[in-house]
Amino acid sequence: MSRDDDYKFGKRGGACSGCGGALRQGAEAVSALYLDGASFSRRDFCGPCFQDAARRGSPFSWWSAVVPVPEQRKAVFDLGMAREFLLRLLRDDDPARASLRYLLVLMLMRKRVVVVVGQEERLGAEVMTVRLPPDETLHEVAAVEIDEEESLRLRDEIGRLFDLGPAGSGTPAAAPPDG
Ligand SMILES: [Zn+2]
Repeated sequence: MSRDDDYKFGKRGGACSGCGGALRQGAEAVSALYLDGASFSRRDFCGPCFQDAARRGSPFSWWSAVVPVPEQRKAVFDLGMAREFLLRLLRDDDPARASLRYLLVLMLMRKRVVVVVGQEERLGAEVMTVRLPPDETLHEVAAVEIDEEESLRLRDEIGRLFDLGPAGSGTPAAAPPDG
């Protein structure tokens, strides 16, 4: 099943943050996430600028890919970035980011980037065992209660970093009723 999430690379980061050059379709580009105080920000680079440590700085996670042409699968780039970001969050297992981690797991489950392989209750909390195919590595994620305010804030933050398409059950754009 394919989903036609809008791909907004051009809108969000059409130019390299290092040299200001255009990120052209078919060329390699890197999207990097930086820890900015308590939240994350995103910067896009051309390949050569990301190779340059002085320009790249110290990203929290990053994802490199060829800038897709519009006809290709559009969400691939943002999903790839979100996947790398989640892997870093899972590896760090930082209690301060438990809510962000859990919410991102839920969002990426819907995109089939995260697969649940087990679930159990431990010390009164639901703990999911997940993996991110094709990786075989198993990660444990504890369910976190997130109040509405925090949920909105986190969804807003995730929305600024990645375009994961509409939340909730998929409502793909209606096919044109030709004929
Ligand atoms: Zn550049």
